Amino acid sequence: MDKLEYIWLDGTEPTTQLRSKTKIVKSFGRDGGVAPIWGFDGSSTEQAEGGSSDCVLKPVRVYPNPLELNNSVVLCEVWNVDDTPHETNTRRLLEETITDIEDDIDEWVGFEQEYTLYKGIRPYGWPAVGQPPPQGDYYCGRNAGEEIVTEHTNACIEAGISIAGTNAEVMLGQWEYQIGAGSSLEMSDDLWVARWLMEKICYKHGLTVSLDPKPIEGDWNGAGCHTNFSTKQMRENGGDEFIFKACMDLEKVHGEHMEVYGKGNERRLTGLHETQAIDTFSWGVSDRGASIRIPWQVDKDGCGYLEDRRPSSNCDPYRVSKKLIETICT
Ligand code: ADP
Ligand code: MN
Ligand code: MN
Ligand code: MN
Repeated sequence: MDKLEYIWLDGTEPTTQLRSKTKIVKSFGRDGGVAPIWGFDGSSTEQAEGGSSDCVLKPVRVYPNPLELNNSVVLCEVWNVDDTPHETNTRRLLEETITDIEDDIDEWVGFEQEYTLYKGIRPYGWPAVGQPPPQGDYYCGRNAGEEIVTEHTNACIEAGISIAGTNAEVMLGQWEYQIGAGSSLEMSDDLWVARWLMEKICYKHGLTVSLDPKPIEGDWNGAGCHTNFSTKQMRENGGDEFIFKACMDLEKVHGEHMEVYGKGNERRLTGLHETQAIDTFSWGVSDRGASIRIPWQVDKDGCGYLEDRRPSSNCDPYRVSKKLIETICT
C-alpha cells in the first residue's frame, strides 16, 4: 500500500499552513503514478459554507515524501464542484498571468524564506523569562535549531525541491532557506511544499514554526520573504538597463504590491532593522534599507536580477510572483 498526502492552501488570511489529508492507494510508485481528483470539507477551511461544503482537490504536482517511505506529497489546486477555480486558488491566477506573457520573457524568481522556530510560546532558544542577549552574533553564527534546519534541508533535497541554501538569521530562533531561482510557478510550488515539510519536521521535534512578519516587538529583526526576480533580458549583457526600468515601474505601483505582500507587514516594514518604511519606495545598489536592492555583483556585471525586499515571511508566493510579472513584464 502507498500513501498520498494531499496538500492545499486553505482560505484563512493569511494562509500560514497547508492543509493535508492522507489517501491510501494500492500501488502508486515513486514516479509515474497519477493521483486521482479528491475532495474535502471546505466549511472547515474557510473555503465554503456548511450548506454546500464540498471543494475539489485537483493534483498539480507530485513530490516523493522524504519523511516517510512509500509516500508521496500531492500538491493540489482547490476547485469548485462546478469546475471553476475556487476564489482562493491563487496558483491558477498566476498560471493565467504566465500564459498571457511572451514565452521568451522566461521569468525567474528566487525566494528567501525567513521563519522563526518556537518552543511553546517562546522563540526557540529564548529563556523562560526575559530576553536573550541582544542580536548581533546570531546571524550566520550561534543560533538555535540547527538540527531542524539540517533535517529540513535534506528533506527538501530528497523531495526534489529547488532549495538553494540556508542561513541562521539575525534574531535568536530565526532562520532562512532559499528556493530557486527558476520559473515562478515551479518555485512557488516548491516554496509551499518546503513550508509544509518544515511544519511536519518541527512537529516531530516538539517545536512549531511561525511565519509572522514581526514575531517579537522591539529591537529584533522581523521575518521576510525577499523575492529575487529576473527576466531573460535582465540576465543578458546590458540587462541592468531593464533592471533599472523595472525599479521605476515598481515605484509607480508600490501600494498595489503592498496589498498582496503579506498580512501584518506594516509591523515589520518600519524603516529600521534592514527594511524600508512601508509607505516609502526606494531602490539602490547593495542597500538593505531600500525596498528594492540591486546586489553589488549585478551592478558589477551589468546584468542579473533585482531583490524585492518587501514581501513578508507569510506572503503567498503565487500572489507575489503574479504581481511582479504584471508590473515588470506587461
Ligand atoms: P541575500 O541574503 O544576500 O539577499 P541570498 O543568497 O539569501 O541573498 O538569496 C539570493 C537569492 O537570489 C536566491 O534565492 C537565488 O535563487 C536568487 N537569484 C539568484 N540569481 C537570480 C536570478 N537571475 N533571478 C532571480 N533570482 C535569482
Ligand atoms: Mn538571504
Ligand atoms: Mn535573510
Ligand atoms: Mn535578501
